[in-house]
Amino acid sequence: MPYQYEAPVSQTLFDRASLVTPGGVNSPVRAFRAVGGTPRFMVSGTGPYLTDADGREYVDLVCSWGPMILGHAHPEVIAAVQEAVGRGTSFGTPGEGEVALAEEIVARVEPVEQVRLVSSGTEATMSAIRLARGFTGRAKVVKFAGCYHGHVDALLAAAGSGVATFGLPDTPGVTGAQAGDTIVLPYNDLDAVREAFAAQPGEIACVITEASPGNMGVVPPLDGFNAGLKEICAANGALYISDEVMTGFRTSKAGWFGVDGVRPDLMTFGKVMGGGFPAAAFGGRADVMAHLAPAGPVYQAGTLSGNPVATAAGLAQLRLLDDAAYAKVDAVSAEIRGLVSEALAKEGVAHTVQRASNMFSVFFTDRPVRNYEDAKQQEAFRYTAFFHSLLSQGVYLPPSAFESWFVSTAHDTQAVERIAAALPAAARAASEATA
Ligand code: PLP
Repeated sequence: MPYQYEAPVSQTLFDRASLVTPGGVNSPVRAFRAVGGTPRFMVSGTGPYLTDADGREYVDLVCSWGPMILGHAHPEVIAAVQEAVGRGTSFGTPGEGEVALAEEIVARVEPVEQVRLVSSGTEATMSAIRLARGFTGRAKVVKFAGCYHGHVDALLAAAGSGVATFGLPDTPGVTGAQAGDTIVLPYNDLDAVREAFAAQPGEIACVITEASPGNMGVVPPLDGFNAGLKEICAANGALYISDEVMTGFRTSKAGWFGVDGVRPDLMTFGKVMGGGFPAAAFGGRADVMAHLAPAGPVYQAGTLSGNPVATAAGLAQLRLLDDAAYAKVDAVSAEIRGLVSEALAKEGVAHTVQRASNMFSVFFTDRPVRNYEDAKQQEAFRYTAFFHSLLSQGVYLPPSAFESWFVSTAHDTQAVERIAAALPAAARAASEATA
């Protein structure tokens, strides 16, 4: 079997897991289905490194899919967590930690006047959509193909097939009724948005978009795209929802809003703000947020929302993320991008490195990628070879060609050197790969 090297303990764990958990994992991309082979079961993380159950160390370029922007087991985050845990793990009452985290978010992201804490990015987008519908009294939602907003029923409709274009469900279990009010449009296409509003006057509650998409690989908005969305929404009485679950507190102190300055009506957050714990949020205009229970009629709740341990971790992480920290992450991202591009160019491998601030991904095509259709044109089989070569040399990339790579303040010279040493063989493997 291909790619079964040197992971006997992970293999045994995966076999056990597959008996008791569908596909052996608790979130699908972890299963390595896109690249083949056995997922590595990680036992610990320190700084830029992960160690697997077979005792092999990897430079981590996934960072838990974004959250670990200070690296693994940052001493100050761990200390904050230990302090919080010692006081108890959940009270089911309000607590000061959640107030402090909400204040930190409001202070950093100017359009957020009020915020509600939840436990996952999925909950954040689901709740923001419900609130937008409750606020506007309208049903329809515009989303873009290739943008992922969590596994919310209504948002799993994605284009790429004629079926999805008509807002029909993308996965069994989502009914036509649940997806029927979802309009899926091509990303970076303002004319398509204008046409949708013209065709359905007074029916669209909101447009939801990733602030800068990272879930079809990194495909930043073209100049003026987000501003155009905002303008079209405002002109039509709809809300503009910017999903910053991935970009929030990563692409700058104020996330992607800090980069493009376009003011959303509602925003969603997750990942970095939880410091590696399940904490997420949605927030925005105070007049819209006032519609949320118990202040208003739109119901939303959560037993573990604002959990004291999660909020302590998130707050500790955010407080460490100052200008110097972002400068460091941006610089190491640039360095790694340069090394990857250089190695691939040396082997004559067609590729395009795209970035949104320090988030980046490598597409195996020489054409710019502006939307999901473009992303699907890449030679993903080359990514598979590239991925496995790096994995075997102790560099952990996302196990899919359609994901962002993430780095942290902990990625130091030594970690970068390890990546640099592994790249020539990986680039060769990509160049020799066949479909
Ligand atoms: N929104 C975006 C932009 C995301 O990238 C993700 C997850 O990757 C989500 C929402 C869903 O977040 P979670 O996995 O915490 O439910």
